[in-house]
Amino acid sequence: MDDTLTEDHRKVVGAWGSEEALHMFLETEVQRLCTLICGAGVEPPRAEVRPSFLSRGLLGGKLRGGEYEPKDGSYKATIAVFPNVCSDRGLLSTVLAHELVHHWETISEEELPPRYPPEVDETIKEIFGSENAERSWRNSHSEKFISKGWLVTQQLGIPVHSFLANG
Ligand SMILES: [Zn+2]
Repeated sequence: MDDTLTEDHRKVVGAWGSEEALHMFLETEVQRLCTLICGAGVEPPRAEVRPSFLSRGLLGGKLRGGEYEPKDGSYKATIAVFPNVCSDRGLLSTVLAHELVHHWETISEEELPPRYPPEVDETIKEIFGSENAERSWRNSHSEKFISKGWLVTQQLGIPVHSFLANG
């Protein structure tokens, strides 16, 4: 058996007792946060745990906490989380909230003027450390995403740094 898989399994079972317990939490938490972030009646994405080795790009780089894939034909909108964020419930919820803002941006017609306090730009700069890394993150995180994300962190009491840095 693959060593990283064993390690992943150990992390999940260590924190949750069983993979099933984690899956149940994911389902309930995605449902709860989806209603708060995207509105009532929005179908929540499915959630799955992916092995750690998929959390880095081909060229290495930062370990991701999660990712979002929009609906595509018969493929349902999906949130994937990685074992490195699964042992901390608060962090896991933060990652789910981040991915649900991607879901909101994909499906919602809610108008939201891009607006957030200047400290948020400072935090982003701090997290990414270089112009290139920041630009590449901003390519997939629009001003609209950041504005909604900032609102969500304020409404749900989520730490802004962690919200921006994980996902
Ligand atoms: Zn993201």
